[in-house]
Amino acid sequence: MEFKDWTVASAAEAMRKGEISSVELVRALVAEKNARDGDIQAYLTFDEDGAIAAASEADSRRAAGDTSPLLGIPVAVKDLINVRGQPCTCASKILEGYVSPYDATVIARLKAAGAVCAGRVNMDEFAMGSSTENSAFKTTRNPHDLSRVPGGSSGGSAAAVAGGEAVCALGTDTGGSIRQPASFCGIVGFKPTYGRVSRYGVTAFASSLDQVGPMTKTVEDSALLAQALFGADPHDGTTALNPVPDFASALRGASLKGLRIGLPREYFVPGTAPEVTEIVKAAIGKCADAGAEIVDVSLPHTEYAMAVYYIVAPAEASANLARFDGVRYGHRSAKSDDVMSLYCRSRAEGFGQEVKRRIILGTYVLSSGYYDAYYGRAQRVRTLIRRDFDSAFGKVDFLLTPVAPTPAFKVGELQDPLSMYLNDLFTIPASLAGLPAISVPAGATAAGLPVGVQFIAPSFADAPLLACARAFEDTLA
Ligand code: GLN
Repeated sequence: MEFKDWTVASAAEAMRKGEISSVELVRALVAEKNARDGDIQAYLTFDEDGAIAAASEADSRRAAGDTSPLLGIPVAVKDLINVRGQPCTCASKILEGYVSPYDATVIARLKAAGAVCAGRVNMDEFAMGSSTENSAFKTTRNPHDLSRVPGGSSGGSAAAVAGGEAVCALGTDTGGSIRQPASFCGIVGFKPTYGRVSRYGVTAFASSLDQVGPMTKTVEDSALLAQALFGADPHDGTTALNPVPDFASALRGASLKGLRIGLPREYFVPGTAPEVTEIVKAAIGKCADAGAEIVDVSLPHTEYAMAVYYIVAPAEASANLARFDGVRYGHRSAKSDDVMSLYCRSRAEGFGQEVKRRIILGTYVLSSGYYDAYYGRAQRVRTLIRRDFDSAFGKVDFLLTPVAPTPAFKVGELQDPLSMYLNDLFTIPASLAGLPAISVPAGATAAGLPVGVQFIAPSFADAPLLACARAFEDTLA
């Protein structure tokens, strides 16, 4: 089998049967990365020695009878998740040279399951962006068309998986950063219910929105990763105590028959590229053919979601990023002569333009006299958006929507920040409501650019959501 065709499930099966070892799989990954990454530019760093050591340990565990499904599986990690002994730059100059002293909980869990976390992949700086062009280090390309972006902010994760240089990856999603790049690159991207996955050790962007999730070739692979990632964590007080579902049994016999799938009419409006609309309509047709009941629903406050997000997310970011002051982490300006100029210059030199824009915006909306008018009001509207979903889920099991208004755009095409923000129109509302949502490949444009559809589920219906997505995948086969 060629490396690019391995999924988590098929590689695990082949390793169990002794057809391939984890060391061989990791060697094949390194060879593909060396062959392809000059074009794709997905990886920031790769700890080859560490990878081989972890893989041979996994091989010994397997020989000793361990049957964990992630044993020996290499996972590419978005560069804001801490892995002990590896760099963690968040694609920012301010963290250049920083080496993590500890493992994020998600990494500790993957390692306990035997996964190999050695490759770190590119992203928009501090996860702010929709194209990965905001990285301070490199521009990742879409493997389906190298003149186009892979989406963002988890663009390195998506491009590495789609480009055949990773088996699977971790991304993070604050307003769409797992789902939109998954759609642009033709892979599966799953954002769990807020609170399902620990954020401990995951560099914070907007703490009330951030979630780690899998980016994989199949829904089954996302379920395999979710099984290891999910669960309460004493290090993160926002993790939920709900029991972790058994994904394998949820996916068994998955079917669309009898499911009520809602189409929120606010998501089917002019402005979406005709080819995207066509592919989404075809997907709706396939769900109906497979026995789902298609229901028209309304989420009336959708039009306010962008405005709410671009108050709440920058507000939280401005507080979270205050810790980067040139003293404790990463870049310190050489030009400063007192402590105030050390803070100011280190931040001025270290942060990129988009990050500075968000910090200024966030500081403004939180400042005294403006707090109520902006932040307070945004939080109230956020509640209305969540209630829209609650009432829609009184009528339907899942919602089906486009992921993004267009397929992947060209590198350099979107210069104006507002048009970049508009990419997340369809992904932001579920983030604000904390709901689980998944992007599943649905087809491609005439030019061969992938387009996904999004399924959104009620809070904590993560396992039924994956089952629905798995059944949708079958309609394309
Ligand atoms: N593109 C959105 C933003 O720039 C979402 C990013 C994300 O989900 N991390 O904020």
